[in-house]
Amino acid sequence: MHTSKRHLAGVAAVAVAMASVGALALPWSADKGASAPHWAYSGEAGPAHWAALDPSYSACGIGLAQSPIDLESHDAKPGKAGAFRIDYEKGDVALVNNGHTVQANVTDPNDAVVYDGDTYHLAQFHFHSPSEHTTDKTRFPLEIHFVNQDGAKHILVVGVMVKLGEENPSLAPVFHSLPPAAGHASASAGPPVSVDLASVLPKNHEAYVYRGSLTTPPCTEGVRWIVLAHPIQMSQAQVASFSTLFPDNHRPLQNVNGREIDDDPD
Ligand SMILES: [Zn+2]
Repeated sequence: MHTSKRHLAGVAAVAVAMASVGALALPWSADKGASAPHWAYSGEAGPAHWAALDPSYSACGIGLAQSPIDLESHDAKPGKAGAFRIDYEKGDVALVNNGHTVQANVTDPNDAVVYDGDTYHLAQFHFHSPSEHTTDKTRFPLEIHFVNQDGAKHILVVGVMVKLGEENPSLAPVFHSLPPAAGHASASAGPPVSVDLASVLPKNHEAYVYRGSLTTPPCTEGVRWIVLAHPIQMSQAQVASFSTLFPDNHRPLQNVNGREIDDDPD
């Protein structure tokens, strides 16, 4: 199994930045107050301006290990024994439209990813339209981010690409219940939605594994990314039910800056 390195610029600086990675606060749990600076996906509060909106967003501008990135298909690695294991099952989620995406908050403590002997529990998943990561420069209509956190608050995100195809029965309960506007949270306004997460993921867990960041402000680095190489399918109508609410909530591609796409823990 080969390891490919893409050297662009600033490799030494990247090494320093990655060595400084520490515990991360979950921004989406601390972010709910009116004090969180406004940001958007276009215009004067769009991605090119995120770093200038607030000092706490500086990583969005000066970070050297940012996400998303373009992934090259020859870098995909099998989800080999010992590298990582994704254990998601059926459970209830609470859907929230937070103005940037629809987020499904997960309460099942048994949903977890084991990576390098460390257990990360699933906190929430949410959607981006179109996809944020690309594969060989190809963008998908939708990308799902499963956000997991370990006991030391390190974040691991499992990314799943969605291509157009058959209706996805596993995700149908979620896409039938998408909250239409910010503040209309089914967490308080409606019943929880039951979803079988094990059957949402592709069977083949071949993946791109790399170190990156949150793709929304504050763009915090030190995030472990496992982007599954095999897309799942959803129908045009399902994708449209989300993209009607969020026509474009993707961050543009960021520089790789010499990072390795590899499943060896560092
Ligand atoms: Zn995301």
